[in-house]
Amino acid sequence: MVFVMSDRPFFFRCINEACHKEFDIGRKLYQCPSCSDLLDIIKPPPDLDPTQLKELFRQRAASKNPLDISAVWRYREFLPFEERDLGHVVTMGEGNNPVLETPRCAEYVGLNRLRVKHLGWNPTGSFKDYGMTTAVTQAKKLGSRVVACASTGNTSASMAAYCARAGLRAVVFIPEGQIAFGKLSQSLDYGALTLQLEGNFDVAMGLVRELSDETDLYLMNSINPFRLEGQQTVILELLEQLDWKVPDRIVVPGGNLGNCSSYGKILMDLKKMGFIDKVPRITIIQASGADPLYRTLVTSSAELVPVPDAWTLASAIKIGKPISWKKALRTLKFTDGWCDVVSEQEIADAKATLGLDGIGCEPASATTVAGLKKLMKLGQDDVTMDPDEDVIAILTGHQLKDPDYTVNYHLDNLHEHAIYENNLIEKSGKIKSTFANKPMEIGPDKEKIIRLLKL
Ligand SMILES: *Cc1c(COP(=O)(O)O)cnc(C)c1O
Ligand SMILES: [Zn+2]
Repeated sequence: MVFVMSDRPFFFRCINEACHKEFDIGRKLYQCPSCSDLLDIIKPPPDLDPTQLKELFRQRAASKNPLDISAVWRYREFLPFEERDLGHVVTMGEGNNPVLETPRCAEYVGLNRLRVKHLGWNPTGSFKDYGMTTAVTQAKKLGSRVVACASTGNTSASMAAYCARAGLRAVVFIPEGQIAFGKLSQSLDYGALTLQLEGNFDVAMGLVRELSDETDLYLMNSINPFRLEGQQTVILELLEQLDWKVPDRIVVPGGNLGNCSSYGKILMDLKKMGFIDKVPRITIIQASGADPLYRTLVTSSAELVPVPDAWTLASAIKIGKPISWKKALRTLKFTDGWCDVVSEQEIADAKATLGLDGIGCEPASATTVAGLKKLMKLGQDDVTMDPDEDVIAILTGHQLKDPDYTVNYHLDNLHEHAIYENNLIEKSGKIKSTFANKPMEIGPDKEKIIRLLKL
């Protein structure tokens, strides 16, 4: 174990209100040594007031300093690092992705207006980069030699890249044959030791957690609070893009539940500081075959209701035992949020609709649009969702991570239980390609093409 003593004003605090023990931020901790619950990083509020900070962020957006170019480090007053750490930051200009209108999706779901923020347009193609820049910076600071993660693909891609930049050894544990090819290619390309494990993500996660407890492997999954700290800046960047006008609702996919948890935490801080006067309702959407948070909520269970054989084609959220479920519940409570599930069919059609807006994404990201459609249909009794609501959907991953999915959909060849050809589980339940755009085969016949195109 690496212990670094610190005099910093930041500290870990156990999220369990009956415990709430505090620990030195320089320790290599992921959970409370006393009660094993999750940890938060507690930070003193920034020295500047909201007006001054907003002006500072505005100025930095025009700066050429790499720390200011990064949409994570641009908001460094909200990060658990000190001035003297800033010389060692591992950054690749994360964030800076636009908020885009999606008129076809708005019509599809029944909203008057819908906008998306595409976190897939990041250095390694997913939102994971927001948290990896801070976690790898912390790993370096702790003097870690080897860092590791279990991953459904994007965490490993991001970790591998940032570790390559930092000169750290990276080990990724991925469930064999169950991650999208684009993601696998990334961790290989960035030089990470890639261990393909028999079993699913939850098995890999359990194993790497034990290893990091027993050895000096530094764990980079989202149980590591430094990941969530970086991801919080998604909300700061989004709010700044909206001129600090808080939307009514932010919709996000739920897998290991780190992303939604980080949003809840920063919103609590911003509200307390008077940065914002209202809080957007965080709406978490899970795939119906991998819905442990949803099951926990509908059964009002005090403990997580895991899904042992979690299953979905949206491999980024194929997780049955999400680590941050308690923080996700806290987010839902604080933001008066909502959690729902969508089917494979709903995900596939929502993704195709995003495509018609010119926006590609991973299947997991499309749960947001699918979830909104479902919420609008549920009507006023279950959920009060107004067509005038100001909604932002968070798209989490790049379309090219998983092109197999998209091509199979448009070839009308997407099957619920066929992920990759070398890992056919069983072929059951074909997904209907409602918006199929099949390629046409045609000879090099000019006349025919002119007739076809009605030119
Ligand atoms: C990691 C990931 C998710 C799930 O995010 P959590 O923080 O684990 O809930 C969703 N979509 C994509 C593309 C991801 O990479
Ligand atoms: Zn505790």
